[in-house]
Amino acid sequence: MNIILLGPPGAGKGTQARFLVEERGMIQLSTGDMLREARDSGTEMGKIVADVMARGDLVTDEIVIGLIREKLQGDKQGGFIFDGFPRTLAQADALGALLAENNETLDAVIEMEVDDSALVARITARSTCGDCGEVYNDNTKPIPADGKCTNCGGTEFKRRADDNEESLKQRLMEYYKKTSPLIGYYYAKGALSRLNGLGEMLEVKVAVDAILDV
Ligand code: AMP
Repeated sequence: MNIILLGPPGAGKGTQARFLVEERGMIQLSTGDMLREARDSGTEMGKIVADVMARGDLVTDEIVIGLIREKLQGDKQGGFIFDGFPRTLAQADALGALLAENNETLDAVIEMEVDDSALVARITARSTCGDCGEVYNDNTKPIPADGKCTNCGGTEFKRRADDNEESLKQRLMEYYKKTSPLIGYYYAKGALSRLNGLGEMLEVKVAVDAILDV
């Protein structure tokens, strides 16, 4: 099963993807994670994307499509979760073509709806474990008092450099201008399911499972 998690930054795509990885053996393909890795390890491509990401703009379709193309040729396990990709109509077309080339199907596109005020609150409060990527939130799921990650015991926690109000504003603008048209695109293809991403993460998980298990 291959699925897309679609929604603005902070909608909870990464959190839900982690559940699907753990419970269904799926592979999370987060272009944001791939780009951050390239940026942090200082590859040529990483240097090109660093400023674009810091501003909250989208990197070129060519770069992200190249990243996804490479991953689709690897191990498939329980299928792919596309997290933060596609983000433009060109990327969506490219994904369709890449899946067809690999004899794969797109089984669901799940739109996670969240209103903007909740997004700002979520994003400016979030941090992740530096070792395993477990997501924390200062208000709803704080880092444990003993300073150890509940999932792996790691003691280093990171905040994303672009999780500040200014670049968040730009990321939301990019979402509404360039990514939200994908809702209509996948609706027209009969692939779209929607859920309320504002609930507790386990409530949202139940809704995701209900969509995937029909
Ligand atoms: P994310 O972790 O998904 O919020 O992505 C972080 C940043 O990486 C975005 O603000 C963009 O600059 C870049 N990025 C991630 N995925 C894509 C994509 N599919 N297309 C263009 N830029 C992307």
